Amino acid sequence: MSKGVYKRESLINKKYSFLTVISFAYSKNRQRYWDCRCDCGKIITTTTGHLSSGHTKSCGSCAKSKSKLGKKNPMWKGDDVGYNALHAWINRYLPKPKVCECCKKIPPYDLANKSGKYKRDLSDWEWLCRGCHMTKDGRMKIFVNSKRNIK
Ligand SMILES: [Zn+2]
Ligand SMILES: [Zn+2]
Repeated sequence: MSKGVYKRESLINKKYSFLTVISFAYSKNRQRYWDCRCDCGKIITTTTGHLSSGHTKSCGSCAKSKSKLGKKNPMWKGDDVGYNALHAWINRYLPKPKVCECCKKIPPYDLANKSGKYKRDLSDWEWLCRGCHMTKDGRMKIFVNSKRNIK
């Protein structure tokens, strides 16, 4: 780095409210953008300025819903509400098929998330029978753990 270039601080692994900076994304219009993981698991990209000023605190829905609902209902748990709402939404738009989408034999029992990221995206969900769901869940956990170990 040459003299005169101001020191570019890395924000990686820093925590800003709900967000943890995971990597540098890109620079644009003299702004530096960072990929951040929200506590809910969503990845968003925002600038150094927005992070340090507190303008961006979460993926966009977490901070808002927590401050609103959290005060009214002390029993409220962010993840459950988000998950249930998502489930209800998927349920409405992804009708239950007659048979499990995996083994095509047994009637489905559960809605299962394919990527483990709980996307609001129908293609990320499938109806599975109990057995298939448990098998896939087991695999998912192994996958998540191995990812953590690499880090
Ligand atoms: Zn979030
Ligand atoms: Zn099955």
